[in-house]
Parts: sequence; structure tokens; C-alpha cells
Amino acid sequence: MKLAEFTDKHNAFRKEIREFAKSELLEESTQIDRKGEFPWHIINKIKERGWLGVPFPREYGGLGLDTTSYILLIEEIARVCASTAIMIAAHVSLACQPIYANGTEEQKKKYLVPLARGEKIGSFGLTEPNAGSDAGGTETTATLVADTWIINGTKRFITDGHVADVIVFTASQDRSKKVHGISAFIVEKGTKGYEPGKEEEKMGLRGSITSELHFEDCELPRENLLGKEYGGFKVFMETLDGGRISIGVLALGIAQGALDYSVVYAQQNILKGKPLHKYQWVQKIIADAATEIAAARHLIYHGAMLKDRGEKSITKEGAMAKLYASEISTRVCAKLQSIFGEDGITRKFPLERFLIDTKLM
Ligand SMILES: Cc1cc2nc3c(=O)[nH]c(=O)nc-3n(C[C@H](O)[C@H](O)[C@H](O)COP(=O)(O)OP(=O)(O)OC[C@H]3O[C@@H](n4cnc5c(N)ncnc54)[C@H](O)[C@@H]3O)c2cc1C
Repeated sequence: MKLAEFTDKHNAFRKEIREFAKSELLEESTQIDRKGEFPWHIINKIKERGWLGVPFPREYGGLGLDTTSYILLIEEIARVCASTAIMIAAHVSLACQPIYANGTEEQKKKYLVPLARGEKIGSFGLTEPNAGSDAGGTETTATLVADTWIINGTKRFITDGHVADVIVFTASQDRSKKVHGISAFIVEKGTKGYEPGKEEEKMGLRGSITSELHFEDCELPRENLLGKEYGGFKVFMETLDGGRISIGVLALGIAQGALDYSVVYAQQNILKGKPLHKYQWVQKIIADAATEIAAARHLIYHGAMLKDRGEKSITKEGAMAKLYASEISTRVCAKLQSIFGEDGITRKFPLERFLIDTKLM
């Protein structure tokens, strides 16, 4: 599918990622899922290509490309391995981005440069046992004593949490102010009083890491505040605008991956003496899937391109893209699975993996 704003550079970048995904990731993706192991060796190859810093300027360790290029990266990787794609998405859009958008020059040099170069891994901690969709329930506290922040609390469901070297997180300076009492901070692995906690055993995205983070009288220097005091709501709302597009494109990549396999399967398999793709019910499932995927792709690329155009807010576009793409992806994967008959529920084919992974979007 072509969009008018796509440049030759975008198309060339997509081709490069697609070739990488095919040669380096396709065969590995099943093992990553089965073993449930973080794919370090793949991440190292991705890092060597500079893809952990795609949308950030070169002076901050990035590749100096745009949001659309970053979206293409996540789509092409998710098409083959969603566990690897979510690892990159959390690192780029949830950890690097808020530092790029809100960090001081010193913070960008100290944290963003090694993150964008892939020398360090980043994550973002907002969710807590009692704070999810409504971050006003944030119970992690930050108290300024002289020039030191004292942090106490627990985060959960944090992507890359266990392996992250640099974590952007939220804590409340004044719980009575709900979301307006929240500030954002940066903590580094190894800081006294900070420990990643238990890892979730998930039904899908089994090669990705999702874990708790614990803060117990964790002491952070005053300069580890990210943005302004009580400015955490703005930091995470803007971060989530980009994060929603990232999750949307992950869902899109998974749906496209499922469609790719289904078309090949329908071409290569026979049902009652007739090739599967000759059946009208199979053609209908494939046509519906391709149409819904194209519609989701339009919403997502539109959001990314608005961002590249310098649009101030893409809150609505990001939310719509995530909502639509995640819903069609679940529906599309389930419908495509029926083309495979019993094979669809076996592990001979990756359809079961796509269906389960996309449920987490
Ligand atoms: C794979 C994965 C990776 C994640 N990675 C991260 C990460 O890196 N960092 C991070 O901070 N978090 C992360 N999360 C957490 C995620 O952001 C939260 O799960 C999400 O914010 C929802 O919060 P919750 O789970 O507490 O659910 P809740 O907010 O408690 O919602 C529970 C249910 O109630 C519904 N609901 C909530 N509010 C309303 C409302 N006002 N009206 C109607 N219905 C409502 C929800 O739709 C949902 O069905 C991750 C989650 C998953 C699954």
C-alpha cells in the first residue's frame, strides 16, 4: 500500500529492515517464543545498525531519521517477532523519547546518548498495582530532603524492566493532587534502594520482559528530576501519545505477519481435492483481513506523519490508531487461524503465536 508522503528513503529503510527480519529473525522467532528468553543476540545485531535510536538526532546518538521510519521498523520486526518489536518500542518511545523531549542538556548527554546508541537499555515505569489507566492512583512517592529525592513504591508490568540500565518513572510528590502531584524521574540500575522485582510469566510476547520495579528509600540526586516538579503528568501523557502509536503498529505488524503466513498456506494446501485459496470463504477471510489491515495502517502512518510534520498534539490520532489496530489485529488473527483448520492451533505454524501475542496489545 502506498501513501503519498512516503519518500524513497522510507522505502529503502523498510526494505533494509525487511531483509534483516527475514535473514536474522524469522527462524529465531519461534525459539524466542518457546524458550521465553530475551533475544539478546538479536538486540545486539539491531543495536549495531543503530536501530535503537532511529528517530533521535545524531548529536544524541541517534540515526537522525523521523517517526515514520521508526514506525516502519516496529512494523517490520513485529511482522516476524513481536517480542523483539515490543522490546525496541518500549526502549525508543517510552524511555528515550521522554528524555529527548523533557531532559536537560546534561540529562540528554548522560542518558539519551548511550540509550540511542544501544549501549544501554531503557524502560518506562508508570503502572502500579493501583494505578493503570488512571495514573491518579500513583502510590510511589518522591520526597525532597535537602538535595536528595527519597523514592518509595512499586511499579508493575514494566517492559524491559529487568534488563533496563536507565528507567524513566513517575512518583507522587503530593498524593492529594492526584495526577497533578506527579513528577517524573530517572533512575539507573545499581542505585541503592532500587531493584527490579519479579518477572511476569505471560501468555504471549514470551520473549519480552515484563517486570516489577521496587523502590525502598531509594536516594536520587536532585538533578534526576525529569522535566519540572509536578510536571510528570505532562511528561507521561506526551510519552503515551507516541507509545500508543507504537502499540498500534505492533498490532499491525502482527496482523500482517499472520496474513503473510495465511496466504502462503492457502496457496500450498489442498482441502477436499481443491487448493484452499480457490474457496470463496478463504478468499473472503483474506480480503477482509487485508482491508482491515490497510485501514489500520492508514491510521497509524497518518499519526506518525502528523508528528513528523511538527503537529503539536497527536493524542486523538494515537488513541484511535491503537484502539483500531489492536482490535482488528485480534479479530484478523482469529479469523485467519480458521484457514489453517486444526493446523491453526498447533505449534507447527506461528498462527497461534500471532493470535496470543496480539491479545496483549
Ligand atoms: C505487555 C504489556 C506491557 C506493558 N508495558 C508497560 C510499561 O513498559 N510501562 C508501564 O508503565 N506500563 C506497562 N504496561 C501496563 C499497561 O500500561 C497497563 O496495563 C494499562 O495502563 C492498564 O492498566 P491496568 O492494567 O492497571 O488496568 P486498569 O486501568 O485497572 O483497567 C482494568 C480494566 O478497566 C477498564 N477501564 C479502566 N478505566 C476505565 C474507564 N475510565 N472507563 C471504562 N473502562 C475503564 C480497562 O479498559 C480495563 O479493561 C504494560 C502492559 C502490558 C500488558
